[in-house]
Amino acid sequence: MRIVFATGNAGKMREIRDILADVDAEVYSLRDLRLVSEADETGETFAENAVIKVREIYDILSARGEMAGTVIMADDSGLCIDAMGGAPGVHSARFMGHDTDYKIKNAAILTQLKDVPEEKRGAAFVCHIAAIDENGRIYNAEDEMRGRIAWEPAGREGFGYDPIFYLPEMGCTSGQLSEEEKNRISHRGKVLRIMKDILRKEEILTMR
Ligand code: IMP
Repeated sequence: MRIVFATGNAGKMREIRDILADVDAEVYSLRDLRLVSEADETGETFAENAVIKVREIYDILSARGEMAGTVIMADDSGLCIDAMGGAPGVHSARFMGHDTDYKIKNAAILTQLKDVPEEKRGAAFVCHIAAIDENGRIYNAEDEMRGRIAWEPAGREGFGYDPIFYLPEMGCTSGQLSEEEKNRISHRGKVLRIMKDILRKEEILTMR
C-alpha cells in the first residue's frame, strides 16, 4: 500500500509519518512524488477544500495509471473564533493577506477581541481530512482542538496562530508546546487517527 499525503509542509509530514507509522504502507508527500498542488481552495468548508485537494492529485495519478494500491489524503484546517462568528475559519491562511506576518495577524485579532471577556474568548483549531481510494471513493473525517484566544501572544513553537491560542488545561498557548506535546493533542493528530480507523474498518489499510 501507498499513502500519498497532499501537502508540501515538512512539519505536517513529520506529524503524519509519526501517526501512520503503525500502518502497513509507505507514506509519501507531494514533494516525494515531485508533484505540486495547484488547486484553488475555493470551498466554503474545510471538507470541500480537503476534497478539492485529494481530487486534484487523484486526477493526476489516475491519468498516469498510478492509482493502484494508493490512498491519497489531504487536510484543510483553520482557526475558528467564537467571538468572530467562526472567522477566520476556512480563510485562516488568507486572513489579512496570505503573506502577512502572523505577528500582525495575531495582533489584529487581539485588538479586535480586546473587550471580549474570558468566558466569550472560545476558539477551536479545526481540521478536516479527506481520503480517496483507488476506486475514487471518498472518506471524510473532522475534529478540533478547543481553547481560548489569549490576552497576549506567548511562545515561539508551532506556527501561525499558535502564540494566541491558549489551552486552559495545559496552562499555556499551543505556541509554548513542543512539537511532540502539540502532536499528542492537536486537531490534525486527532482527525488523522480517526481517518486511520475508518480506513482500517473499510479494510483499505492494514496495520503492521
Ligand atoms: P492549511 O490547512 O495548511 O491550509 O492551513 C490553514 C491555516 O490555518 C494555516 O495557514 C494557519 O494559519 C492556520 N492553522 C491551522 N492549523 C494551525 C495550527 O496548528 N497552529 C496555528 N495555525 C494553524
